[in-house]
Amino acid sequence: MTVEEKTEHDPTSDLDLPNAYMRWAILAVEEVAGKRGVDIILREAGLGHMVDNYPPQNMNMDGLKYADYSALNAAILNFYGRAGKSFAMRIGRISARYSIQEESALFGFAGLALKLLPTNMQLKLGLQNMVSGFRKLAAQKGQTLDLEIVEEPDKFKYISRACPNCNGKVSDKPMCWVFIGVLREGASFVTGGKEFEVKETSCMAVGDDACVFEISKTPLPQ
Ligand SMILES: [Zn+2]
Repeated sequence: MTVEEKTEHDPTSDLDLPNAYMRWAILAVEEVAGKRGVDIILREAGLGHMVDNYPPQNMNMDGLKYADYSALNAAILNFYGRAGKSFAMRIGRISARYSIQEESALFGFAGLALKLLPTNMQLKLGLQNMVSGFRKLAAQKGQTLDLEIVEEPDKFKYISRACPNCNGKVSDKPMCWVFIGVLREGASFVTGGKEFEVKETSCMAVGDDACVFEISKTPLPQ
């Protein structure tokens, strides 16, 4: 898989990104690739100014854009080649763990008696709360995010036309592996440790109308 720049400007790239999301992604890269690895990837991504200078851990939006996040994602995939997918998925999972630790209030996880609900409802509420958390953040900047959760008999679809992972990029295959990791970790968290298959079935980087992630309702065998 090779990720390249789109020739025309992608307006999604201009959306504001909270500092902490970039920080957690960089910390996750460091955890997986080591200090040397993270420095190389930041430079490859055109984010050399963030070497030894990670964004602060707050939800302020004072300069970072969705373009920075997709630049990091593209650099991971291009740099690691065939290993890039699993690498990106691990980074997504670790980032989500930081986010769950720090932002459970924002995402409404703290107040939900999720434990008492059937798996299906745990997933549904988890996804809905995640989307409304992202929307609340964007609303602080007067931005609206085109995100949607659709329920089908055997799965949920997370449909995004405002994708932090692939905005401004072109790829020959769906490339939002980081977000597959985020959804897997989130699904595991809200269901008390179960694992679910997550697939990206459409991706704007390959020319589709939206990035679509399918989350199976049936847990994987333990
Ligand atoms: Zn995508």
